[in-house]
Amino acid sequence: MAKSEKIKTQVKKSAPAKTLIKPSREEAEAAVRTLIQWTGDDPDREGLVATPSRVVKAFEEWYAGYGQDPREYLRRTFDEVGGYDEIVLLRNIRFESHCEHHMAPVIGRIHIGYLPRNRVVGISKLARLVDVYAKRLQTQEKMTAEIAGCLDAILKPYGVAIVVEGKHQCMETRGVHKTDVSMVTSRMLGAFRDQPQTRQEFLSAIGRSSLGSRTPG
Ligand SMILES: [Zn+2]
Repeated sequence: MAKSEKIKTQVKKSAPAKTLIKPSREEAEAAVRTLIQWTGDDPDREGLVATPSRVVKAFEEWYAGYGQDPREYLRRTFDEVGGYDEIVLLRNIRFESHCEHHMAPVIGRIHIGYLPRNRVVGISKLARLVDVYAKRLQTQEKMTAEIAGCLDAILKPYGVAIVVEGKHQCMETRGVHKTDVSMVTSRMLGAFRDQPQTRQEFLSAIGRSSLGSRTPG
């Protein structure tokens, strides 16, 4: 069995730094085998023999965000905005994540707006920023706040607005079995929080008259 490898987890500022022991690939595959047995199936039958290795490989993709620093994507900003002082908006960025309670898929769209203070960032970088946070075990609330906080800290804009609409498979395929329900979370900072007109401009641009029961700010 390959030696376990020590990795430093990226933890939030509020939590003390903690070193986690990352299991080896063989250990991870053995765990999947155990889960297959737990379902009542035979991990040695032909169709399932390669499944543990496929699942572990899929995990590498689904949880690729742990190995990445989201701030890296925002470092290269463009300082020349030519006096542009309106909202920069990226609508309908698709995200694929997994809820940290059931490890079930959460799929949806994110709308990002910010009011630049001299610095803007390439739109593909915003999409990558979303991916870094989405490709981790998440709650939608936390992901919304993390994306907003990162943009705010690096770009230092006049304001940041994030709205996330997500469909949670843990709610659709198990538990209450409610389909066609989207969860909406939002985070409004700076001008989007303080100025109703700016917030409204953003909401109209993403096709919303309001955030429903979640009043921003
Ligand atoms: Zn869940």
